[in-house]
Amino acid sequence: MHKITFFGLGNMGLGMASNLVSAGNQVTVYDLLEAPLELMVNKGALAASDSISAIKDAQVVISMLPAGKHVKALYEKLLAHAPTNTLFIDCSTIDALDAKALHKLVRSNGHRFVDAPVSGGVAGASAGTLTFIMGGSKEEVEQAMPILQQMGKHCFHAGGEGAGQIAKICNNMLLAVLMAGTSEALKLAIDNGLDPKVMSEIMKQSSGNNWALQHYNPVPNVMEGVPSSNEYSGGFLVDLMNKDLSLAMSAATANQSVVPMGALARSLYQMHGLRGNGKKDFSSIYEAYLKE
Ligand code: NAD
Repeated sequence: MHKITFFGLGNMGLGMASNLVSAGNQVTVYDLLEAPLELMVNKGALAASDSISAIKDAQVVISMLPAGKHVKALYEKLLAHAPTNTLFIDCSTIDALDAKALHKLVRSNGHRFVDAPVSGGVAGASAGTLTFIMGGSKEEVEQAMPILQQMGKHCFHAGGEGAGQIAKICNNMLLAVLMAGTSEALKLAIDNGLDPKVMSEIMKQSSGNNWALQHYNPVPNVMEGVPSSNEYSGGFLVDLMNKDLSLAMSAATANQSVVPMGALARSLYQMHGLRGNGKKDFSSIYEAYLKE
């Protein structure tokens, strides 16, 4: 049992914090919104009235916030008030440079820090099947691991400070490229008279096989239970894919990495978002290939 304070009860954080309560921890929660706090109190968490009082007894502080600026602002406010040697775990997806700066800031205040972004989406957060990708020292990662395992199925130590964030955006950049490429290939097949179901089966048994074809086909009604067969609702939003692709581009710029496929995917997703599709699932990139 740990005394854990959880910040950010949004789409992801609500399920994650609930799983920590179910695992028997003493969980204190804080969010800017009232409604998720009430939901968590009904599940057995303690709701704090402000962020500083939320951490007064904390052994572990977990944040699941929208972006780096939110995490930085919160940590700058909290660090001086946290009990000595508190373990801070940030699970938000943020810029790797921000994550590195947070490692230094947290350590200089006498605490420990792990960057631990996640893969697995809202469904994985509720089901407790997330993948955590950690950056930090071996000792700190080993301390974070048993807590993260209560919210996830797989935990990886990617490397040192900020490595979790780098690994996460590399994966999501590849995912964007795969989803756009799969959409393109299937539309080419359809335009030339083929059935997308048949074409998908052919590619799954051929060298074009990939995760999108296996689990997340972008063409409506090829696969049951995926966002494309439900008007692209639910799933992983185009807005969030755009955020991750921007982070990938900034990591590429920082180290002069050559990322032509990622840059193209980013442009496609940016155009798609600007055309009013930001709140659709990211497999809706298929619609960018339609002629009408
Ligand atoms: P969200 O916008 O649904 O939730 C964020 C929550 O943080 C909100 O409830 C907001 O009120 C709260 N918040 C903001 N500032 C706060 C503060 N200072 N103190 C306390 N609470 C504060 O976002 P989400 O979809 O849950 O995503 C969270 C993070 O996880 C993001 O970094 C996102 O990129 C990443 N992520 C999301 C998904 C997904 O499918 N949604 C998947 C993987 C990773």
